[in-house]
Amino acid sequence: MLRAVLFDLDDTLMDHTHAMHTGLDKWCEELGLPTGQQERFGALEKKWFAAYEKGEVTHRGQRIGRCREFLGNELSEEDALKLYAGYLAAYRRNWQVFPDAKGAIDRAQAAGLKVGILTNGAREMQAAKLRAGGLDLPGVLLIPTVELSCPKPQREAYMKGCAQLGVATSQTLMVGDSLPNDVEGAKAAGLQALYLRRDGSGDIASLDELF
Ligand SMILES: [Mg+2]
Repeated sequence: MLRAVLFDLDDTLMDHTHAMHTGLDKWCEELGLPTGQQERFGALEKKWFAAYEKGEVTHRGQRIGRCREFLGNELSEEDALKLYAGYLAAYRRNWQVFPDAKGAIDRAQAAGLKVGILTNGAREMQAAKLRAGGLDLPGVLLIPTVELSCPKPQREAYMKGCAQLGVATSQTLMVGDSLPNDVEGAKAAGLQALYLRRDGSGDIASLDELF
């Protein structure tokens, strides 16, 4: 018996990849750097965010690390964060909600399910992202794992997320685009999980398939 659903946010409800790709070119233009560096920046983002998820660096530390590795290791922490804020501003201007996101949340709530958003991103940015996408809806609980001190795919992230919704892990469905973070980790913690791959290679290709 399902009582709740936990959605991932980036590349599940909101199109993070589009915002990153477009925002990165704008930021590079502002800095006088060549555009088209998405592959390199994406690899650094993945590397440093994975280090954060493994507990090797802080959330702030991964921002500093990826900015330094992209722009120059001689940067001070303060300068790296200041420059990174320029990327975030450009990223933010390109946020887009997936057209199937709000309908899926609405149907979950109409079916009597509690709804949470379990994300490894920081609250300030993720809350703003939800507002930008029209997803800051009554009854939808934003759960940034940064505040739980245990990012996905650590088992405690899902358990604490379910506890915040007041439901058992076995009665909760996790939906997201990351196999380790939204599917394997969730199942290991006792949740049900569905792998969203918009190219059709996962459990579902669209949030329209839910509920
Ligand atoms: Mg994601």
